[in-house]
Amino acid sequence: MTEKPLKVKTPIVLTIAGSDSGGGAGIAADLKTFAALGVHGTCAITSVTAQNTTGVLKTFDLTPETVASQIEAVCTDMEVRWAKSGMLASSEIVREVAKEVRKHELSLVLDPVIAAEAGGNLLRKEALSILAEELLPFCKVTTPNASEAGALTGMTVKTPEDAKVAARKIADLGVEAVIVTGGHLDATDLIYEADSETFTRVPGTFVKGGTHGTGCTYSAAVTAFLASGEDLEEAARKAKKFVEQAILRSRPAGRGVSPVNQLG
Ligand code: PLP
Repeated sequence: MTEKPLKVKTPIVLTIAGSDSGGGAGIAADLKTFAALGVHGTCAITSVTAQNTTGVLKTFDLTPETVASQIEAVCTDMEVRWAKSGMLASSEIVREVAKEVRKHELSLVLDPVIAAEAGGNLLRKEALSILAEELLPFCKVTTPNASEAGALTGMTVKTPEDAKVAARKIADLGVEAVIVTGGHLDATDLIYEADSETFTRVPGTFVKGGTHGTGCTYSAAVTAFLASGEDLEEAARKAKKFVEQAILRSRPAGRGVSPVNQLG
């Protein structure tokens, strides 16, 4: 007897991000995360980085038109509701992405990527205010780490209390929810939801292992869980666990920081 294919729809998600030739961060991390979490991943590449475990050596930004064409190709054919953004590189790309997000009514999880942990700028200096003013107000969620939260607010974010103040300030820019990740603080992530003005803490533990690609993996996992129907708190809890496991399963690669391992 031949089995009828199941009619359960797999969520389709989109990552708008840079590529990492070392396979650790950016779209490589995002697509591996999507695959591991059972959603279909599509991608729009913003920039090609020549990168390995020791850092970013060169970046080659694509034109805003190239980025928009990729988003158009996906969104005019496939049913995409949830998307995430990572490395956006330039003001022009940020503006183009904002246009596409509105046009296709995408629910965007914005990872405000500014620099690689091992070194290398991933967003031009002048693009940060464009990102804050012209893209963030159209996003559902943003997932800054402590230093990104600091850059977005002009504050120094060194304690969980600083994270609270920064989260509110970032929400004032118009995004619905902010998750300040705690990897550089006390391992506790802090969710702030603007409509209810509530804070929720998501505790975690510091785990040992490679951390290259952690931020990308986290925001991709939040996106995958939201696309699968979880509420924000549950998506954040599950994403945090997923990243902790990916760090624990990392294997040595190269001379620098080993990439997290999403697939086991
Ligand atoms: N490279 C690209 C293309 C990225 O998008 C990112 C993060 O978003 C990174 C590198 C940074 O990775 P990490 O700081 O985790 O090493």
